[in-house]
Amino acid sequence: MRDRIEYKTREQMRVMARAGLVVERALAAAKTAAVPGATTRDIEAAAAAVIADAGATSNFLGYYGFPSTACVSVNDEIVHGIPGDRVIEDGDVVSIDCGAIVDGWHGDSAISLIAGTPRSDDDVRLVENTRRSLWAGVAALATASRLDGVGAAIEDVTEAAGLHPLVGYVGHGIGTAMHQAPDVMNYRTRGRLARVKPGLCVAIEPMLVQGTSESRVLEDDWTVVSADGSRGAHWEHSIAVHDGGIWVLTASDGGRSGLAPHGIEPAPLD
Ligand code: MG
Ligand code: MG
Repeated sequence: MRDRIEYKTREQMRVMARAGLVVERALAAAKTAAVPGATTRDIEAAAAAVIADAGATSNFLGYYGFPSTACVSVNDEIVHGIPGDRVIEDGDVVSIDCGAIVDGWHGDSAISLIAGTPRSDDDVRLVENTRRSLWAGVAALATASRLDGVGAAIEDVTEAAGLHPLVGYVGHGIGTAMHQAPDVMNYRTRGRLARVKPGLCVAIEPMLVQGTSESRVLEDDWTVVSADGSRGAHWEHSIAVHDGGIWVLTASDGGRSGLAPHGIEPAPLD
């Protein structure tokens, strides 16, 4: 059942970095659009315009029938929210996930934010600690011999913050398809995971909730909500492992600012 991992050349990683930068810009536009009074469709439209202007293709639109260019998930919606008429309210926790394809190579990244004025310190901590858990996972990728280290690093931040991972949802390999082997867990697991070695490209994406880890899928067959109604956040980057180190493909600084607290310097692909 274990699929083969697609190891990339440095040249292929450079193309993935181009896709990644389109995604970064799309998310920046979506973030700007995510203000109280906007609809989730407005947020998606901002991302879609950037992807179209770049001459890139959405890898979300039509994916197993997904009807949109981005997932926009609000409050107790943790991931896979379908953009529509929902109006963002002051203090909503908004998670935006999108991706793009350039010359056949995929990028995938997600951010969370609070629209307007935060409703509680807990919401601020949710968004910030989920972001911190992502960077802890990315830093672990730079040093771990196996992917086990990534999940362990994310779990350490999650536990210290009193948050809970969404069970059953994981990161993934990425390359000529958005979702590839291997799975990248957001918590410790039994059994050894894939070896971290040059050519490996993965999307790390912690999905953390304030309450229970349990979730359910809404009638639309996509939107994943927390079972107890508590709020969640989602942060994601696509990262390349090469013989010089790691490079965050969906960040124009390669992850330099996010990795700095961990004492890790990203290694450029050129
Ligand atoms: Mg994603
Ligand atoms: Mg992903």
